Amino acid sequence: MELIHSINDFNEAKQVIVGGVNSPVRAFGSVGGTPRFIKKGAGAYLYDEDDNVYIDFVQSWGPLIFGHCDKDIESNVLHAAKNGLSFGAPTELETTLAKEIISVYDNVEKIRLVNSGTEATMSAIRLARAYSGKDDIIKFEGCYHGHSDSLLVSAGSGCATFGNPSSPGVPKDLSKHTLVARYNDIDSVRACFETSAKNGSGVGCVIIEPIAGNMGLVPASKEFLRALRKLCNEFSAVLIFDEVMSGFRASLKGALSFCDVLPDMATFGKVIGAGMPLAAFGGKDEIMNLLSPVGGVYQAGTLSGNPLAVSGGLCALSKLKANPKIYTYLENLARKLTTGLKESANEYKIPMQTTFRGSMFGFFFCENEVKNFDDAKKADTALFAKFHQKMLEKGVYLACSQFETGFICTSMGEKEIDTTICAAKECFAEITQGL
Ligand code: PLP
Repeated sequence: MELIHSINDFNEAKQVIVGGVNSPVRAFGSVGGTPRFIKKGAGAYLYDEDDNVYIDFVQSWGPLIFGHCDKDIESNVLHAAKNGLSFGAPTELETTLAKEIISVYDNVEKIRLVNSGTEATMSAIRLARAYSGKDDIIKFEGCYHGHSDSLLVSAGSGCATFGNPSSPGVPKDLSKHTLVARYNDIDSVRACFETSAKNGSGVGCVIIEPIAGNMGLVPASKEFLRALRKLCNEFSAVLIFDEVMSGFRASLKGALSFCDVLPDMATFGKVIGAGMPLAAFGGKDEIMNLLSPVGGVYQAGTLSGNPLAVSGGLCALSKLKANPKIYTYLENLARKLTTGLKESANEYKIPMQTTFRGSMFGFFFCENEVKNFDDAKKADTALFAKFHQKMLEKGVYLACSQFETGFICTSMGEKEIDTTICAAKECFAEITQGL
């Protein structure tokens, strides 16, 4: 595979952009090799600057549920662009998009649109702290909610301790308000609540990816989410479902289709912007009405509710709502893909765990089911790196880390899935032969 252009582009980018990329995971740090510089996308496929073609299971890390260059979304965005790129004033489109989200997602009565998932979770937490009057928050090890200071925190000396900054530059004085619990382990959450009640300010909110996609794909069990809801009620803490990745992706109702638990607040991103910078946070009226200009909690954005982004997102949500069978189609492809991958790995005696939720899929090279980040860390990352590189060479573009999720889009069909399974089988054969 020729990579001359990507190699040169990467070297040149590194002269002027830190690490050559505008988001760290794009640098292929954990799998090695050269990040592909992308020339264009079309449907299920990506084309790099050397004219190599790949089946794209990243889909911009989730937003492109209809694949690249969907004609309807494209024409809506282009139409909006002709009327002006940004006004810094309200538009009717924003209200329409807010209504679309509210009509689908239970317990969300009011919305605020922002530009990124990071902003959505950061603002949701500020609001939840104000509502509850308590500073401590609980997050889960292995869940990612963007890069705001309160959320860049890893477990202290063990779960249920006050967190440590997971990045230089995050003040310890702030991270001490974030307690880190173990995913799918309700005892660890109770321990966090109790630790905070005894030694901290009390827990104001709990934020969770109800379908975790940032330690690989690890769904929370129904029982765990039910128990979490109960604990939040018991300790008067706001429960936030971070559905930036899973919202309108795992199903039209995101995680709500897989559990009978309602959060007090939810955050959205990715699919609701259809590939444009758009995200949102929302919740019950009594919480959301604390937000400025109705209440005193400050949050703002020059480009929030940008008309191009809103037009793209609105088109995507309207299409999904009008044709919910899309989710069955995507889920069937995800099932076929994960079954095929697992059977191929079994054939070569390579231990592999697979999961899917709607159009999200994940796999780990390990012996046992993955229920939390400790389990995920047991996966063979060196094997993943080898597999990733070989799949790329065979024209399959997978997320460049063991701890990410894959995405199916509507432009994919049996052909792309069969080709991928075939490529995986070849990779496993080569790997077992030591090639
Ligand atoms: N929350 C979740 C669950 C995410 O997966 C991400 C990003 O992948 C974020 C928040 C942050 O979103 P953004 O990258 O748009 O800031």
